[in-house]
Amino acid sequence: MNDTLSRRSLVQMAAGAALLTTKLTPKLSAAAPFTLPPLPYAFDALEPYIDARTMEIHHDKHHQAYVDNLNKAVASDSSLSGMTVEELLAKLDTLPAPVRTAIRNQGGGHANHSLFWQTLGPAKGAQPGGALAKALDTSFGSYSKFEDQLKAAATGVFGSGWAWLVVDGNKLAIEQYPNQDSPISKGKKPLLGIDVWEHAYYLKYQNRRPEYLAAITKVINWDFVSGRYDQLSK
Ligand code: MN
Repeated sequence: MNDTLSRRSLVQMAAGAALLTTKLTPKLSAAAPFTLPPLPYAFDALEPYIDARTMEIHHDKHHQAYVDNLNKAVASDSSLSGMTVEELLAKLDTLPAPVRTAIRNQGGGHANHSLFWQTLGPAKGAQPGGALAKALDTSFGSYSKFEDQLKAAATGVFGSGWAWLVVDGNKLAIEQYPNQDSPISKGKKPLLGIDVWEHAYYLKYQNRRPEYLAAITKVINWDFVSGRYDQLSK
């Protein structure tokens, strides 16, 4: 037997066996495609607005739990394997009933927080630029009026949830969502979300949500959000 051929056929056999094994014996670890994205800055990078301990618990514990529980949910139904979290959320209403709530909560939690970390960064006193700045002016009158409306929406979320700036068709909108519901499930494109679960602010701000909102709007990474708008509105 030719050495190259034999090595190739061994590789093919091994690949086939691995595929068969995966199909016959789904394991939580092997079937778990989602991982916690690393925080793109240090835990204390948003001080003094958002404290390091809150960031550490929020990212390492809360977001990790959404990832772990999402992986369990996906592993429980083979029809869900191979789908991205955005695909799962976009098709939420058509998912099998036994896993739909888990995907809604845990998949929403994973997607929402994955975007949230990227939309924050060390305070630079920056405001939106480029096309996003113009779109905010058109939709809300000015950046200042936009920020007031975003804070009002976030203040008004009853209990746990998010306020989102979304691209809705060809316009921008501010919307309130309960729990970890994702704008993606409503056919909207999320640009920037403000997490108003108490786990996002309670250590530093306790029940003073408006103080947290005044602080978090100081640490929005407008370079990232403006770039995301350019991508989404192409
Ligand atoms: Mn959160």
